[in-house]
Amino acid sequence: MKPAQIENFFATLQAANPNPQTELEFSSVFELLAAVLLSAQATDVGVNKATRKLFAVANTPQKILALGLSGLEEHIKTIGLFRSKAKHLMETCRMLVDLHGGRVPADRESLEALPGVGRKTANVVLNVAFGQPTMAVDTHLFRLGNRTGLAPGKTPLEVELKLLKRIPARYMVDAHHWLILHGRYVCQARKPLCWQCSVNQACGYKLKTPAPAD
Ligand code: SF4
Repeated sequence: MKPAQIENFFATLQAANPNPQTELEFSSVFELLAAVLLSAQATDVGVNKATRKLFAVANTPQKILALGLSGLEEHIKTIGLFRSKAKHLMETCRMLVDLHGGRVPADRESLEALPGVGRKTANVVLNVAFGQPTMAVDTHLFRLGNRTGLAPGKTPLEVELKLLKRIPARYMVDAHHWLILHGRYVCQARKPLCWQCSVNQACGYKLKTPAPAD
């Protein structure tokens, strides 16, 4: 995509949704970190369902530690991979208490040192909680980056670095949300809804889905 198309792409998404938000529910930085950690290979809807009950009883590292591993597992057992996620969340809570005074650190290095927290999760926390212009490349951003021509790359990191280079600064903080929502509801994996896509003109995909016949 050329710079003018990229400008058009994000101006269109911004006009339709000026204040995009994550669909994960949270009311503190710690809740956000825990929800993102639990969301790997799970839907936001499924995570929200479990965390609504979990956070009602334990929404700080200290309170999660007090639940104990089996208590935590019981709360999140509806989420895929819950055993390993519970273990990681317990270990992360322990580190937050021991090393960071129970608070979520605002730098990449400290975040990525937490068990179960990789580059993508750190990018989400830095972006959503701390307003940093980071780009968390999940399955939707990876697909859109390649499909639209916005940021083609063979790995999530390659796509991330290209997105950071190509997206105009004024769109950077919100771009992650616009791309996720567009990938989730319009530019879907199996069959993108190109005929009703607001950024169709700017998009460089060669095999756009035609409108269904009446
Ligand atoms: S035109 Fe199609 S491929 Fe391009 S962004 Fe829209 S839905 Fe995705």
